[in-house]
Amino acid sequence: MANKMKIFQFPCREDNYGVILSDPETGLVISIDAPEEEPIADVLEDKRLKLTHILTTHHHGDHVAANAALKAAHACEIIGPKKEEAKIPGIDKSVDHGDTFELQGQRIEVIGTPGHTLGQIAYYFPDQKAVFAADAMFALGCGRIFEGDAAMMHLAMQRLAALPDETKVYAGHEYTLSNARFAVTIDPENKALIERAKEIEHLRDEGTPTLPTTIGVEKETNPFLRAHDPKIRALLVMESATDEEVFAEIRARKDRF
Ligand SMILES: [Zn+2]
Repeated sequence: MANKMKIFQFPCREDNYGVILSDPETGLVISIDAPEEEPIADVLEDKRLKLTHILTTHHHGDHVAANAALKAAHACEIIGPKKEEAKIPGIDKSVDHGDTFELQGQRIEVIGTPGHTLGQIAYYFPDQKAVFAADAMFALGCGRIFEGDAAMMHLAMQRLAALPDETKVYAGHEYTLSNARFAVTIDPENKALIERAKEIEHLRDEGTPTLPTTIGVEKETNPFLRAHDPKIRALLVMESATDEEVFAEIRARKDRF
């Protein structure tokens, strides 16, 4: 069993989250993406950490903006998605869906989560019971489809949902309040969702992060993981459609919400 890592989540930019993982025993220090230099540098300085790795999820500017500056300051290694390697600043090594690698004894599994971009990947740390899903799965939501299609995004969400229920899900953005307001329009009789939506209003009033969430909570309340649910299907008048078609309809409605 690998060492327990400390995980620090902090706001960056408008609504992004930065995440740093640290293994005090080995000195392994990982930044999941690099949305903005200053908040990441502040956390590293505050915790007296030297960054050893950046794990990039996808090529969007709000996920790679600080790659070059952090690499210059820390000489860290940058690992990113193979399908987007030409677009990741400073990339040293690329990985793809199904790959597993180890950093200082920490096992990391790569899950392909296409749809938002064609090559986006998530990083699953089984020993930490945590997945870093960037712009694929959000609390009560899923990423906007920019480069792929609904079938890809459905697949991405299903791959993440297959992780153990207790897995903590860290996502790239704090979009939960708007996601909750949309979710109750799709699944209005879901008691667990209604309770959660209330709690989220309260948390956001206080400025408290709603992440990380867990796979188990998302399976119960996230409409993008509930395309099989008879009540949702009835509400959408899609009783005989495939899960993928129902998912696509929910995604299209969220785009218009
Ligand atoms: Zn993105």
